[in-house]
Amino acid sequence: MAAINATANGGMGGGKTRIGCEIDFDADGKQVAWLKLPFSVHRSAYGHIAIPIACIRNGKGPTLLAMSGNHGDEYEGQIATTKLIRDLEPKDIKGRVIVLPAANFPAAMAGMRTSPIDQGNLNRTFPGDPDGTPTWMISHFIETELVSRADVILDLHSGGSSLLYIPSALVAVSKDKGRTRKLIALAEAFGAPVGYVNVGGGDRTSTGAAERAGKLRLGTELGGAGMVGIDAKKFAEDGIRRVMEHMGIAPKSKLTTAKPKTRMMDVGGDDYYCYAPDAGLFEPYADLGDMVKKGQKAGVVQFVDNPLRPPVPAYFQRDGMVLCKRVPGRVERGDCLFHLATDRD
Ligand code: CA
Repeated sequence: MAAINATANGGMGGGKTRIGCEIDFDADGKQVAWLKLPFSVHRSAYGHIAIPIACIRNGKGPTLLAMSGNHGDEYEGQIATTKLIRDLEPKDIKGRVIVLPAANFPAAMAGMRTSPIDQGNLNRTFPGDPDGTPTWMISHFIETELVSRADVILDLHSGGSSLLYIPSALVAVSKDKGRTRKLIALAEAFGAPVGYVNVGGGDRTSTGAAERAGKLRLGTELGGAGMVGIDAKKFAEDGIRRVMEHMGIAPKSKLTTAKPKTRMMDVGGDDYYCYAPDAGLFEPYADLGDMVKKGQKAGVVQFVDNPLRPPVPAYFQRDGMVLCKRVPGRVERGDCLFHLATDRD
């Protein structure tokens, strides 16, 4: 599917979106509407996929794009942005907040990472394609119509169905030291227990979209396990407000002045990740927050179908703190079991 979609516009999304949008982004006030993604199918010949969107604006000022549901099975951000649309009024702000609570809407409604329509993983489809299937059309719309209007893109992720994180904010490392400083300040402003700088954002992600437009992008990994974590949801709600305060869109409140300290960390290359060495049932030896050493056993793969077969160990490739762990017990070779983070400086 990706190969089909990558062709027509050379992957750079040449051409204008075919997604309809009734929002006037330059108008003051609060507008809540549905994007219209044309989708002509057997049960609905002239139908469209209706994707909720909101724009709350009060005069000139910076613009925050707050999005969630980029992966449909990451829920804390979806709750926070849905509540934000109902709660935030133009009088509360100076500037503009654009909210896209269920970015890959078909995936969000299915509670899946990827779209059930075209199997698209939205965060691997940027810059998208206006003539592609729905997921590619959505990423093209986000990049050309929303990222282009924003100063800061806050993309609220969690670990999804297969991973669980210590609630974190993350930014991609930049060669431009000034840009990296601004990004780290944003990550600290969010106020999650951990903030980390990632070596690779990837050009097919919302990070890539932001970098192409010269905009600042803050991501999160708020929890996961295909559930709604109570703490993680609170970090999502408070974090959006703190980013608005940091940007000067909202006045500083207690949320910001008394915010928890963020532990700034790095997530580097392949050696930060630990993968299943065989298919079976994974018995973990480490948990979130543990400090581990290079060469330490991360756990073993057990073979319930053949108790005589010795378990196969998985090893950590470097020292670090366990920031993320796999949730389901059954594994296949190549599944990510853990990833680590190391303290900055
Ligand atoms: Ca995600």
